[in-house]
Amino acid sequence: MIPFNKPYLTGLETQYIQEAVQSGKISGDGIFTKKCHRFFEERYGFGKCLLTTSCTDALEMAAILIDIQPGDEVIMPSYTFVSTANAFALRGAKIIFADSGSENPNMNVALLEPLISDRTKAIVPVHYAGIACEMDGIMDLADKYGLWVVEDAAQAIDGYYKGKPLGGIGHLGAFSFHETKNIISGEGGMLIINDERFRERAEIIREKGTNRSAFFRGEVDKYGWVDIGSSFLPSEVISAFLYAQLEQLDAIQEKRKAIWQRYWDGLYGQLPQKGIKFPHFIEGSTNNAHMFYLVCSDLEQRGRLIEALKSAGAWAVFHYLSLHKSPYYTSKHTGAELPWSDFYSDTLLRLPLFYELTAQEQQLIIETILKAA
Ligand SMILES: *Cc1c(COP(=O)(O)O)cnc(C)c1O
Repeated sequence: MIPFNKPYLTGLETQYIQEAVQSGKISGDGIFTKKCHRFFEERYGFGKCLLTTSCTDALEMAAILIDIQPGDEVIMPSYTFVSTANAFALRGAKIIFADSGSENPNMNVALLEPLISDRTKAIVPVHYAGIACEMDGIMDLADKYGLWVVEDAAQAIDGYYKGKPLGGIGHLGAFSFHETKNIISGEGGMLIINDERFRERAEIIREKGTNRSAFFRGEVDKYGWVDIGSSFLPSEVISAFLYAQLEQLDAIQEKRKAIWQRYWDGLYGQLPQKGIKFPHFIEGSTNNAHMFYLVCSDLEQRGRLIEALKSAGAWAVFHYLSLHKSPYYTSKHTGAELPWSDFYSDTLLRLPLFYELTAQEQQLIIETILKAA
């Protein structure tokens, strides 16, 4: 069977882990964590980067940093991963779900303003499939109403919007290095602090609510409990793995983009008469080749494609179920209908996309789709 995903190893991961182990320091914020921070800050010009043990953790840190209190409202798409919502729900926020657009699953920015109330504290755009949300419109609304913007850039590494790296536009941004993402460390993530005001407190929250980081830099002569916090930092073992991946970021991206393009060339223009839609990039958005998806015309067609691909020996998979209809949130939801979110829940299909996917395997997938659609 052709799997949906296969984690790619550059070959240096175990060597770097061995170096970390032999250095005698394997807890967090050692040599490899610093190398990763520097890599991101230099390559993308991010204000400050802090590795975390997951994107989920980075989002939870963001919710603490913007001081979410019970009853505060946070606007985000319903078509997203649970962690986007959980991070804020954990602090007592009421989640206000926005519908996706007709062109792609990202939040429809034109629908956001009526969702803003005097309890609204933040907007959390999710760059689905690494395709940029319309950030100009979102930042304008945030300015107008005094809201924070936290980008869920879990899928968006190396993606850009109007020349700016995704994750670096909102006040805070969160990346994931889960094994299903472009750059991986098994589990892993990163918080990006673009607003200076969060720099110091972010370090404290990540270090169990202590000023330990400032202590190690010699800025204070003792450290203690100064705020709430948790243990959000990864061990050097994880950072060493991640650094081996970062060194190969360009090669990994180039390969994924070539694979993505092969799907596009094989399918686009061949299928429109069947009502299948393709990824749509807004003006100014680049393609980071995180995902190749198709939007089928209905649930029945998607089921048919999944079955045909399975018979041919390939795993294609659907994705999110609308969070506003989830068992946990449906009774808390405002009741608003979100038809586009439900539509993508029923129709979006993801094709296998990983570094080692071969041209022959892709050909089989493409031919199967052309026949079965
Ligand atoms: C993968 C993903 C997450 C969670 O990332 P973890 O590192 O697994 O915590 C959050 N949001 C989105 C949109 C994701 O795709």
